[in-house]
This record gives sequence, C-alpha cells and structure tokens, in this order.
Amino acid sequence: LNICALSSGSSGNAICIGSDRTKILVDAGISAREIGRRLMEIGVKPNELAGIVITHEHTDHVRGLRVLATRLDIPVYSTEETWYHLEDCRIPIHLQRVIEHHQHFLIGDLGIEAFPVPHDAVDPLGFKIYNQNTSLGIVTDLGHVPGYLLDRLGDVELIYLESNHDVDMVMAGSYPAFLKRRILGQRGHLSNDTAADFLAMLTERCLKQIVLGHLSKNNNTPQLALASVKSRLKGIGCNVGTDVDIQCCCHGELGIIHSV
Ligand SMILES: [Zn+2]
Ligand SMILES: [Zn+2]
Repeated sequence: LNICALSSGSSGNAICIGSDRTKILVDAGISAREIGRRLMEIGVKPNELAGIVITHEHTDHVRGLRVLATRLDIPVYSTEETWYHLEDCRIPIHLQRVIEHHQHFLIGDLGIEAFPVPHDAVDPLGFKIYNQNTSLGIVTDLGHVPGYLLDRLGDVELIYLESNHDVDMVMAGSYPAFLKRRILGQRGHLSNDTAADFLAMLTERCLKQIVLGHLSKNNNTPQLALASVKSRLKGIGCNVGTDVDIQCCCHGELGIIHSV
C-alpha cells in the first residue's frame, strides 16, 4: 500500500492511496486541475483513479470533487447524511455510493472500513484501508479521540493523523473567541498533544509509520507537531527512527509517498 497527501490543511485536503492495482482518493479538497497535476507528479495518471471516498462535507475536503468525479466518471463514497449536505456539489446521481458506519467495502482490491469521528460536520468519517496483510488508517478532522478508535486502528502499520494545532498558539492567537472555542472543542480539531497521546498508544500496538497532517497554518508548525510526538514517544521508550518513523505534511504542499 502506498499513501501520499496531495495536499493537507485548511487550504485543501486530498490523499492518494494505492495498491499495485487500485488507486483511490480520500477527499478532493483542492481543484481538480491541481489534483491531476499532483497525481502526475507522483506517477499516478488521474484516469487510473477508481473512486473517491469522502470524510466530510467541509469545503477543504470537497472543493474539487464535482469537477474531478464528473470528468473521470468515477464513483464517490459517503454516508447518506453527508450526501444530503453535498447536494450543492451536484455529483451525478449515478456516481453516488452510500456507505455506512463500520461497513467494510471494496474498491478494486482495496478494503475500506469507515467509522465515525467527532467533528462539527454532519457525519464525519475516518477510514481504515487494507490490502492483503497490511492496513493503514486515515483520521483527520476530529476534536478528540474516542476510545473505540484504538480498537479500530490497533492493527494498522501506518496512520495519517491530524495534528492540527498547538493549544498555546491558539489561545495566544488573534482568532475570535468563538473560533478558538470551535477549534479546541470536542468536535473541533486535534491538538499536537492529543495526537501525540493517541500515537503513543498505537505504537504499543502495531504502528510503524506516522504521517502528521492537517496542520493549522496559523496555529502550528511542523517543528512543534513533530516535537510533541517525539517527546511523547520517547517518554514511553519508543525510539523514533528505529521503532517508528515520523513525517509531517507541510500546509498545502504535496507530501511524500509512504509505503507499508
Ligand atoms: Zn472539517
Ligand atoms: Zn478539514
């Protein structure tokens, strides 16, 4: 399995996941043209895509969805509630696929399991994607880590996890109070420290590779996000570099390809 964040953060999210046979996108939050350009840069032809799976309806996850899905004529997967809120996206009905929580479904030879995550969207999802004996998790846009996520993701070798903000930077920053409350709330975004705590638990299971994503442009830096995970892992005796590898996506930029 290969995974590459084509873009990450509030300016747009799109992640390409592929086996040798099947390539899919999780979210299409940058323009279709830019998705196409970045796919080519990592050696994937856009018309190789077999489907698009949507985490939730926020613009930074669906900005390029209609054009991309329509142009490529490929199915788009989301829950019924999210479809209702994606009406404005005008995805042709024959491309709409409805999925349910905890349902396993296949796109080509990729197995996918969707599960709910706490975020201020109508029905936000995280995913486990598996192929043969390997699996990876994609969990982005969540305010806290519900207990069941540890079970859902206890066997993944790689996780793409939101590490959105440094709490002190949010508190000291210039955002209005309502926005600070939203970001820091239980259905907002994951802080560096909360992400680090969850990652520490996962590394005690099967986790070998960590990709930090959806970093805030104004309330975080890759250095801060990496530092908080590294110090948390060090605290439990986990050696970064040998036991587990950590990378961080820069806001809005094409990431690197990770393989499991
Ligand atoms: Zn969101
Ligand atoms: Zn988002």
